[in-house]
Amino acid sequence: MKNIYLDNAATTPIDEQVMDLMIKVMRDCYGNPSSTHSSGQEAKALIEEVRRKIAAYLRVQPGEIIFTSCGTESNNLIIKSCVEHLGVERIITSPMEHKCVAESVRDMKNRKGIEAVYIRPNSKGDITLDQVEQALKSSDRKTLVTLMHANNEIGNIYDISSIGKLCRRYGAYFHSDTVQTIGHLDVDFSKTEIDFASCSAHKFHGPKGVGFAFVRKTSKLKCMISGGGQERDLRSGTENVPGIVGLGKALEISLENKDDYQSHTQEIKDYAITRLKEEIIGIKFNGWTSKEKSLYTLLSILLPFKDPMIGFKLDMKGIAVSQGSACSSGATKPSAVMLMLLDEEEMNNSTPLRVSFSHRTKKKDIDAFVEALVSVQPI
Ligand code: PLP
Repeated sequence: MKNIYLDNAATTPIDEQVMDLMIKVMRDCYGNPSSTHSSGQEAKALIEEVRRKIAAYLRVQPGEIIFTSCGTESNNLIIKSCVEHLGVERIITSPMEHKCVAESVRDMKNRKGIEAVYIRPNSKGDITLDQVEQALKSSDRKTLVTLMHANNEIGNIYDISSIGKLCRRYGAYFHSDTVQTIGHLDVDFSKTEIDFASCSAHKFHGPKGVGFAFVRKTSKLKCMISGGGQERDLRSGTENVPGIVGLGKALEISLENKDDYQSHTQEIKDYAITRLKEEIIGIKFNGWTSKEKSLYTLLSILLPFKDPMIGFKLDMKGIAVSQGSACSSGATKPSAVMLMLLDEEEMNNSTPLRVSFSHRTKKKDIDAFVEALVSVQPI
């Protein structure tokens, strides 16, 4: 059976060089980075080297990078500590956010009584700067704005630079979930008025179970996990040394090859759009598809027929794509984002499907995907 992987927004296969380096570190560099002997200090030095590398990429200070276990943990730490320790009483967000942001906000609303303000996107998944400004203006309460850099379901890229400026003007904290962009795009925080961001290594061919939070030093965020005081006392627990080294290596490879990876993957995405338009009459795309406004790694399709089992049928043909969340029958339910973007007619008569690419994806993978799709579509 074919094995065609078109679900790189969910996770990417680990790079061989990353894996080799991690194995070496696991075998040879087992010291605890908090130990004062040379074995511990050797491990500590590896971590600090990765921290410096990340800081140089984001143009921030190394001390502003806090290693965590994943994007979910980073987003939880930031949102919850803003409420618990920084006096945030109101959070401005949007229904486009990943579940780990949405659920953190909901948790703070339920347990801490904060006010949650949701900016409604238009049918393209966009929110305007005017909507953000109106929300900021509407109250004097201490506010956190949490709006993602790029959406993981439809791929829209949001203007975090302009949102950051607005937040600064109105004295609000600004957090952006940058899990889908770090390692893929130029992300320069020296030019962005941003207080917090998040990253996950497995989205750019690094290992699972490691990520980081960017925490602006001036923000005075505090820890949610207490203990030995690692990571500037913001995230206690013995560091995942092989994971952090793997994250660093994956980032290094991604940045060294960024232009090639980007142009290849963009070509694959454009090819997929062309082939799908040729073969599936009535096909549409959710959100934006252009280079400027959407991730080159992701394409959100709206098939012109209803089939909640489509993901399963493609899987039977050896093709991995993403289709909302599974329910008990093996069929899938549309996600909260799709429920927001699609009208009733589209909900009843069409099927959203996400395909996501990497530098490893080939045109023949797209051909096989389109062929499989054509074979399962109703006549
Ligand atoms: N935020 C976004 C936008 C994501 O796409 C994901 C993963 O799918 C996460 C957060 C969660 O990251 P992790 O899997 O590292 O917890």
